Amino acid sequence: MNQSASEITVTPARDYGNEMGQGWPGVVALAPGELLSSWLHRLAMANGVPPQYFGQVLGVAGGDWSAKLDRDLPGRILKLLVERTRLPAEDIDGLALHRDPLARLRLRQITGSGDARTSTARVNRLQYCPACLKEDRAPFFRRGWSLATRVSCFRHGCRLRDHCPACGGGIAPARQNRLLPQHFCVWCDADLRHPTLPAEYDVQRLERLIDDLLRMHVAGHGRHGKTSLPAMLGAACFAFNGEPTSISRLPHRVRYVLFRQLADGMTPLQKRSVRPAIDLWTRIALAAPKHSDLVASLSAEITSQITPGSKTRSRLPDLADLQQVIVRLHSNRRTSLATAMPAN
Ligand SMILES: [Zn+2]
Ligand SMILES: [Zn+2]
Repeated sequence: MNQSASEITVTPARDYGNEMGQGWPGVVALAPGELLSSWLHRLAMANGVPPQYFGQVLGVAGGDWSAKLDRDLPGRILKLLVERTRLPAEDIDGLALHRDPLARLRLRQITGSGDARTSTARVNRLQYCPACLKEDRAPFFRRGWSLATRVSCFRHGCRLRDHCPACGGGIAPARQNRLLPQHFCVWCDADLRHPTLPAEYDVQRLERLIDDLLRMHVAGHGRHGKTSLPAMLGAACFAFNGEPTSISRLPHRVRYVLFRQLADGMTPLQKRSVRPAIDLWTRIALAAPKHSDLVASLSAEITSQITPGSKTRSRLPDLADLQQVIVRLHSNRRTSLATAMPAN
C-alpha cells in the first residue's frame, strides 16, 4: 500500500443505542382490523426474525405464543412493544382479544407439536379469506375471522377456510421458521390464497344477522352474563365426531354445513344443549329471511329523508319503535324474533 497512515481516516461508528434508542429497526404499521398475533408475525419478519423464534424475544414460551398473546397481553409485554416500536399503547392493546365481549364465540386455537404429520398440528382453528389475503400488500389476519359465527367473507362473498388447500394442515403462521409472508403454508410452503367457493345466499343472510346482533351486543345493547347473546350462542352443542361440541370448537366445513342446515329450517342441535340456546339459534334462523327486508326498509326510509329534492316524503322513522325492535331482537328469549321483525 502506498497510502500513508495519515491519509486513512477512521470514523468511529456511533453507538447503535444512541442512534436508535431502544427501538427495533423495523416498525410495521397496524392494519385496520388486524389480529395482534398477525401484526406480531409481521413485526418479527420486518426485524429479520422468523415468527417461530419471536416468542423468545418477547419472553413467551410455546409454539402458539402469539395466540396466547391474542387472548392475554400482559402489561410487561405491551410496555416492551411500545418501547421498541414507539407506537401508542392503546393502538397495540386494541388489537388483542382480551376483555373481549365475544370471547365465548372466538375459535379455539388448538395447536400441536409443529409436526404437520401429527393430527394435533392439523386442527389449528385460524380461518381466513383467500381473496382478502390476495388483495393485501402484506397479507394479514383479521380479528373478525376469529369468530366461530363467521363462515364467509362479506367483502368477497366467498367462503372462509381454516386449512391449507394443498396439504390440509392448520393455519399456523406463528410456526413459520423462515422469513416468508403469512400467505405461505408453514407445513408445505403452498400459497394459501387459492380461491374458495362462493358462499350461498341463505347462509350469508343468516351469518349477517348474527353478526349484526353481535355488533349490537358489543355496542352495549344487550344482557350480560350467562344469558348474553354470545354466551347463549356458545352454549349450544352441535354433533361433531359423535360428540356434542360448541361452535367455537368446530372446523369451518362443519360450521358452514351447520349454517346451511339452519337456513334450510333444520335444527341440528344436540339435545344436551340448554333449551334456551336451542330456541335462540332456531329463532335467529327463522328471522334471517326477514332481516334483509328490515335493513332495506330502514335504509330506504333514512335515504328518503336525506335525499335533496325527494318528491315523496314518507313518515318520519319512529326511533322508539326501532329501539324496541333492537332490544327484543337482541335479548328477549320469550319473544319470537319472527314477530319482532315485520316483513316489509
Ligand atoms: Zn375477503
Ligand atoms: Zn400446506
